[in-house]
Amino acid sequence: MSKQIQPLKFENYASFAAEMDTRDSLGNFRDKFYIPKQPNGEEVIYLTGNSLGLQPKSTRNYIEQELKDWENLGVEGHFHAKNPWLPYHEFLTEQMANIVGAKPIEVVVMNSLTVNLHLLMVSFYRPTRERYKIVIEAGAFPSDQYAVESQIKFHGFEIENSLIELTPREGENCLRTEDIAQTIFENGDSIALILLGGVNYYTGQAFNMRRITEIGHKIGAVVGFDLAHAAGSIELKLHDWNVDFAAWCSYKYLNAGPGGIAGVFVHERHASSFNLPRFAGWWGHDKETRFLMDKQFMPIKGAEGWQLSNPPIFQLAALKASLDIFEEAGMQNLIEKSKKLTGYLEFLLGEINDERISVITPPNPDERGCQLSIRVKNSDKNLFNKITKRGVIADWREPDVIRVAPVPLYNSLADVFCFAEILKDSLS
Ligand SMILES: *Cc1c(COP(=O)(O)O)cnc(C)c1O
Repeated sequence: MSKQIQPLKFENYASFAAEMDTRDSLGNFRDKFYIPKQPNGEEVIYLTGNSLGLQPKSTRNYIEQELKDWENLGVEGHFHAKNPWLPYHEFLTEQMANIVGAKPIEVVVMNSLTVNLHLLMVSFYRPTRERYKIVIEAGAFPSDQYAVESQIKFHGFEIENSLIELTPREGENCLRTEDIAQTIFENGDSIALILLGGVNYYTGQAFNMRRITEIGHKIGAVVGFDLAHAAGSIELKLHDWNVDFAAWCSYKYLNAGPGGIAGVFVHERHASSFNLPRFAGWWGHDKETRFLMDKQFMPIKGAEGWQLSNPPIFQLAALKASLDIFEEAGMQNLIEKSKKLTGYLEFLLGEINDERISVITPPNPDERGCQLSIRVKNSDKNLFNKITKRGVIADWREPDVIRVAPVPLYNSLADVFCFAEILKDSLS
């Protein structure tokens, strides 16, 4: 039975935000993070968890543990460290799988995002003369664009007739599912791969991944998602949605630190698809016989079979610190709070009542995550510089968009309120 949630009545008062914060059951999680300070000693208003998540105070201890074990044990740490290094990545699998709605066999933590996109495309972009096109968003993140184009060229195809870029309708900022469907059906069995961001990094739009996967499969294409802006931000059910593969980084909402180790998903139905081509390395080899150093590569069943190298333990430790916090908070609670924070932000932006500002992110809470992208008409970076001076850390995207993402683990309604006040002052 689904619980009927009363629509929240927001109020444009600092006291309202403060009162709501005292009732926030996740309120004390903010203390688990270092909040950067302004030169005057006050905490910044940090709204860029979509770019680089803040450092958990526990991260240092997690890394210290591995430094100590290395100091005391040397190579023996692979077996005798408190958290043995040999299987260390396995300690993260279940928590990561919970965050993206997957079974443990479908998830592994490895490499970084763009690297993983390439590795997955090696297996899941198999163009033929008849079926060779890739569908992406016209506004895809540049790295995804480069990765996809270079894959097309690698296979000897022309970008011009192989890359389908989805563009919003004239005068609109976001893509409509019906238009995505139409493009997919129009190109039908010439499409080999559909690869979209789960949440678009620029507009903040969350796609209907279940529906897009369904449509993609109808025409026989493979469907993958880049979840850089989705993992740790929105509800994901990759297994149930039947997504073929996905990849995400862990330094945005997942707080693993700059350049942190990334995650991948490969649906269970591909777990034993050993006939798929893949680039291989010893860490993807069957664990029983890995150290026999046999010449014949035998992949591990599931996502782990796509690993190449033994992973960076300090990176795993940093990510583990954050995943433990996610587990304690609970993804459902985080999503619920996120909707409150982002809803409040949207409400306050409306209250500013200035024709120059508009939100290009969809108004439907199910079509977005933490982030709102605010367009400021006829603005330039001066406005952004003004709010930065007042202690706001947000993100400016040319020509006229400010991206802000209140994050439920460490942001409060008070943060959102202060931001809106500063933006209002800076506009006048
Ligand atoms: C952040 C982000 C990346 C970054 O890629 P790295 O390989 O981690 O440097 C790529 N794609 C998207 C959609 C992103 O949001």
